[in-house]
Amino acid sequence: MKLRVLCASVVIAMTASAMASEVKLPNVKIFATGGTISGGSASKTDTTKYQDGQFNVDALINALPDIKTIANVTGEQVVNVSSEDVDSPTLLKLSAAINRSLEDPNIQGAVVTHGTDTLEETAFFLDLTVNSQKPVVVTGSMRPATAISADGPMNLMEAVSLAGNKNSMNRGVLVAMNDRIGSAAFTTKTNSTTPDTFKATEQGYLGTFIGVDPKFYYPPVKPTGQPHFSIDKVTSLPRVDIIYSYQDFDDVLIKASIRNGAKGIVMDGTGNGDVPKRAMKTLEAAMKKGIPVIFASRTGSGYVTSPKSSEGIGSGYYNAQKSRILLMLSLANGDDLNKIKTYFEK
Ligand code: ASP
Repeated sequence: MKLRVLCASVVIAMTASAMASEVKLPNVKIFATGGTISGGSASKTDTTKYQDGQFNVDALINALPDIKTIANVTGEQVVNVSSEDVDSPTLLKLSAAINRSLEDPNIQGAVVTHGTDTLEETAFFLDLTVNSQKPVVVTGSMRPATAISADGPMNLMEAVSLAGNKNSMNRGVLVAMNDRIGSAAFTTKTNSTTPDTFKATEQGYLGTFIGVDPKFYYPPVKPTGQPHFSIDKVTSLPRVDIIYSYQDFDDVLIKASIRNGAKGIVMDGTGNGDVPKRAMKTLEAAMKKGIPVIFASRTGSGYVTSPKSSEGIGSGYYNAQKSRILLMLSLANGDDLNKIKTYFEK
């Protein structure tokens, strides 16, 4: 009799402690947008010809039963496309959905699954527009879900673990890929096909994962001078084109861009943002008409200074694609040239 009572109380105690530990799991919301992480192929060795967007958010979560041991996850399918097809309306929709969900005191963090091609653009857009100190983690994969050694499941586990971790707060939007944690402001895709593609050549990583546990190298900090934009009232973003410079580059593409309604231009220039003199003349005329021009560098890293003798703005430490995101948001915000300059030059 006594033994039975003891056993019963042990069972009750164990159930209570199991419930308590269940209650302690963070609530993380996954926003799925498509990409290779949701891609599939008939061949297990196909890592380039597969189809993006074959699996929805529920399929991604259900394929990972272990995720339940690190967080209570819920999913929302925002779009299911290759990331080269992610556009400004999708960015506005995604950011608004994340802002709404992080206002809920019961949600500890958000994860975005995304194609890797433009992942850095979406991550930076969210970094500039999500109004919360809670973690937002963007992840994807280089191998489709059907491939041998698919990297998506572990990337998703790590991203969810990171989003549910208190140490991830106040660090801006994070990119979690291939066991590494990077800042959305600096992290860029550096390799077209391999899983170790996301890097920030100058700024490095913020941390790594051991198993699924994030290990940060530094206490929480945000990139220097990074602005925040409220997009509550923004319904569309202005057209900003990126134009690549090279030997023989002339002004034909610049003129076409302006003719097609560009409200700003990012020049992906050579070296420290340089473009040939003949193109510079047309850019100067555009700047006089109120079209801001950001000079970035096609070198892939380094700080770009503003040109000496024009109204042009050096991209600072942002690459061309991140500069475009920042310029679109500052134009939507109604900022003048001087204000825009401060965002890039700090
Ligand atoms: N084209 C794919 C995408 O960006 C590539 C990937 O996800 O790795 O959606």
